[in-house]
Amino acid sequence: MHSPPEILVIYTGGTIGMHKDARTGTLAPFDFSQLQKQIPELNQLTANISTISFGKPIDSSNMNPEHWGKLAGIVKDNYNNYDGFVILHGSDTMAFTAAALSFMFENLAKPVILTGSQLPIGMLRTDGKENIITAIEIAAASENGLPIVPEVAIYFEYQLYRGNRTYKYNAEHFEAFRSPNYSILAKAGVSITYNRNYIRKASEGDFDVDFRMDTSIAILSLFPGISQHIIEAALNIKDIKVVIIRTYGSGNAMTYPWFTDALQKAADRGLILINSSQCRAGTVSQGRYETSARLAQIGVLEAGDMVIEAVIAKSMHLLGGGHSANNFGEAFNTDLRGELTVAQVHSTT
Ligand code: ASP
Repeated sequence: MHSPPEILVIYTGGTIGMHKDARTGTLAPFDFSQLQKQIPELNQLTANISTISFGKPIDSSNMNPEHWGKLAGIVKDNYNNYDGFVILHGSDTMAFTAAALSFMFENLAKPVILTGSQLPIGMLRTDGKENIITAIEIAAASENGLPIVPEVAIYFEYQLYRGNRTYKYNAEHFEAFRSPNYSILAKAGVSITYNRNYIRKASEGDFDVDFRMDTSIAILSLFPGISQHIIEAALNIKDIKVVIIRTYGSGNAMTYPWFTDALQKAADRGLILINSSQCRAGTVSQGRYETSARLAQIGVLEAGDMVIEAVIAKSMHLLGGGHSANNFGEAFNTDLRGELTVAQVHSTT
């Protein structure tokens, strides 16, 4: 007989870990080591659950690459002792953390499932209980001794998403996340239905973590009427190596000579430019319209169908690994962790 799967639940903070203080009526973090006491239903799962706290619980708006490194370190230190990991995290920046971890983990072959909630666990109508219970069930799910979801994923409101394909789109609804350009990995109904064709295969080789993340990036969001002054300032920020330009539609931007000249000059200086659309669904395709053809000539890289959260994390990861203007583009246009549909990218390097 097989022994039950060992699952490590890592608590970082966010709404999910709050309960109402009976005396004061205010929301405060609960003692996370008492998870099973808060959610007695967990005892019915056929999994051994261990918990670890990240330190002082934080609202995920305060997450930064240092926290990502700490989280990745916890997974690394415990990798061989557990069958799967669940990370409890505020929903606001959960998609960023999921994308970052997906790039930091090398040869991941075990589930790392992030979840959280819109309402605190201690509230009557909380979505947190179901989210934790099912996230643990997914992290523990195996077939023929192999995990069913050996990748970084987000579970929220009955759906499992690939972490680096996801963004938070709703601050009100329980269904807070979307994965506009990639199928969900699983749906939880009466039973959990896995979309096996879309789930990443476990990587071979030894698991490791690449902790290097370089934050020398900036985002320039275009809008009708944006001034030359703002464009010039964004392209000339000291020590910035990558500027992600949030364009329109399928990657379109103004064709004014002062704009394209400024981009050309920046590219000639070795600044890496990325074209990522303000549209959440679909793909960037430079050259489809005249308003993006010039960007391709300048050597602006296409973000393809990557969500901006993944573009940011991937850029930090590649810069951290020492990529610079001459070899960044090739790696950026490569699908590293299932974040990009490669057939849709037209290389501009
Ligand atoms: N502001 C909270 C956070 O992201 C919201 C949540 O927990 O969902 O930490």
